[in-house]
Amino acid sequence: MSGPVTKLSFWGVRGSTPTVDPATWRYGGNTPCLELTAPDGTQFILDCGTGLRVLGSRWTAPAAGAIASGVRNPETHILVTHYHWDHIQGVPFFAPLYAENNAFHFYSFRSKHLGRDSLKQVFETQMAMPYFPVNMSAMTAKKKFMEVGGGDSFTVGENKITARHINHPQGCLGFRIETPGGTVVYATDNEPGDPKLDEELRELAAGADIFINDAQYTPEQLASTRKGWGHSSWREGVKVARDAGAKTLVLFHHDPDSTDRMVDGLLRQAREEFDSVFAASEGMVIKLGSADGTLEAHMPVTRTALRREAHFRARVSGITEGGHAFEEETVVRDLALQGALILMQHCPRLQSELHVTMETPGVDGAKVMKLRGYVVRIDSSEEKGHSAVGVVFTE
Ligand SMILES: [Zn+2]
Ligand SMILES: [Zn+2]
Repeated sequence: MSGPVTKLSFWGVRGSTPTVDPATWRYGGNTPCLELTAPDGTQFILDCGTGLRVLGSRWTAPAAGAIASGVRNPETHILVTHYHWDHIQGVPFFAPLYAENNAFHFYSFRSKHLGRDSLKQVFETQMAMPYFPVNMSAMTAKKKFMEVGGGDSFTVGENKITARHINHPQGCLGFRIETPGGTVVYATDNEPGDPKLDEELRELAAGADIFINDAQYTPEQLASTRKGWGHSSWREGVKVARDAGAKTLVLFHHDPDSTDRMVDGLLRQAREEFDSVFAASEGMVIKLGSADGTLEAHMPVTRTALRREAHFRARVSGITEGGHAFEEETVVRDLALQGALILMQHCPRLQSELHVTMETPGVDGAKVMKLRGYVVRIDSSEEKGHSAVGVVFTE
């Protein structure tokens, strides 16, 4: 990847309320929080859900050499879409707010229910007695609160941010962040059906490299039981991405009742309708480079534990990053209860489906296992000419 690079990390992707159900563990249970680092080093955080706590502990960990050497920018710009619990509940648990050397610029809209300094009031209220043991004065970091209206644009460093109101109960902002490395549009918590706001969402997403959209419900739920709840579906995301000419769609704000398998299903359907789609997944990192227009998505840490070394011959079929079908003979290196690490010559697309036929030795002789799984991690540096591909089996 050459030229300026913009890095987008997903720390929380779950909508409405955090989940700890093992069936939701692969995509992750923390509520919305994204981190965007622009090529000029400007650091943005999008929303303050419970994912913010995890991001904060990463920053303050002694192992984070970037902090010790002063590389990490002490100033951070935090864009808050709205004041529903799932987008603010990480704030009291964000350790960097309790360190006086840090400085934060918060951006959000004036709520008609709160008036001036809406976001500041929200923070004060959520930490007021008896809701939290210390009040906001314990947060010694420098904090500035900026009010942003729909249609407003401003620049931070080399980056241009545009905000638009999107359709959600009590209001919500969508943000467009144009960086020299590419354009990211973050539009969570929105429901289609208001013609003016639908049009504005398309304007906001116009030509975006990455369009992150609310995909909480199925198209069927959105048309019936969940109509008016303020959320969207993968199908609506595809429509907007198409109309707006966005390059990659990211399904976001997964329903707390959606299991990993259900999200797999939504992703599969979306991929049948649109070329480049990912389902937001905790730990996922997307790198964007403008010079060659490339996009790299990967999962830096494995979320599959309990691996056991193995050496089984297998035949694997799937699709490559470039969208071509492939089949190859290979070796399964590690095997776990739910997944495997497979050495492969082809580089499959992250989150794509993989079919694995594997011969395993058994007491009664060799046994052939046919498994279907999803690619959750790709480590291309593992071995010369091969990628180590992490797969979670679903059946
Ligand atoms: Zn939400
Ligand atoms: Zn909301």
